[in-house]
Amino acid sequence: MEAQSIGFYARGCLAGGKELAIDGPAWQAMRLSRNRNWGHPRLVTLVERLATEAREHDGWPGLLVGDISQPRGGPMLTGHASHQVGLDADIWFTPMPDSRLSRKEREELSAISMLGPDKLSVDPSIWTDSHVRLVKRAASYPEVDRIFVHPAIKKALCAGADKAGSDRSWLRTVRPYWGHHYHFHIRLGCPPDSASCKGQAAPPPGDGCGKELDDWLALIAAPPKPAKPSKPKPPLTLAQLPGQCRAVLDADASGGDTASLPLEVPVPVRAVRTEAARQ
Ligand SMILES: [Zn+2]
Repeated sequence: MEAQSIGFYARGCLAGGKELAIDGPAWQAMRLSRNRNWGHPRLVTLVERLATEAREHDGWPGLLVGDISQPRGGPMLTGHASHQVGLDADIWFTPMPDSRLSRKEREELSAISMLGPDKLSVDPSIWTDSHVRLVKRAASYPEVDRIFVHPAIKKALCAGADKAGSDRSWLRTVRPYWGHHYHFHIRLGCPPDSASCKGQAAPPPGDGCGKELDDWLALIAAPPKPAKPSKPKPPLTLAQLPGQCRAVLDADASGGDTASLPLEVPVPVRAVRTEAARQ
């Protein structure tokens, strides 16, 4: 099918998904068994560009690329509520090693948290100016809508931005959120070819380094306790996705003529866990 992101980041699917090559000149895809190295072509191109430009200009040796989307997007069995429309990509804060990792290493290598023991700031022995330049570069591409990082990382970016140049406008794109201290999460806005893609309102004006960040850090320091144990949300089913997603599921993976396929094939029900909230 023609490339198209259908629906919302946390409720949708992806037509015409493109595979990010598992090895590129400046990146390696991780956790290959998950088959989540697929995205809207615009996102795949952006990840490739970020990888090569960060290596050229930012002292960043290359990207370890975590989850993007499944070949046809949609909800996943584990790990994310979003990443459904091929516009979300997780990039490890761990720099790419010099060597090509084996498939086994790509399953087993642990990502490294950037947090220090207090969990409210980064570990200065791990966090570097190259991290700042990498996130700045990612946040500066116009097609990037948001980047999610842990509040302690946003704090480090606010503090270190001046070392990466006088421009601070990119900080507006970088949003604090739970998790996201092993990787950062790049989210593109709706591409022009995707009429039924639902985007988000722009982030509030400003660099977000003041009260908003303070509030987040307070929240992290004392997370709210749920009043009662929350029941896991029921899995998202095809019926809850945009109607066009049925055609995406039914499409012939070989790229052949889909018109001859029976329309009433049984549709696998895919589940999603809620642990990763909206990101
Ligand atoms: Zn993510």
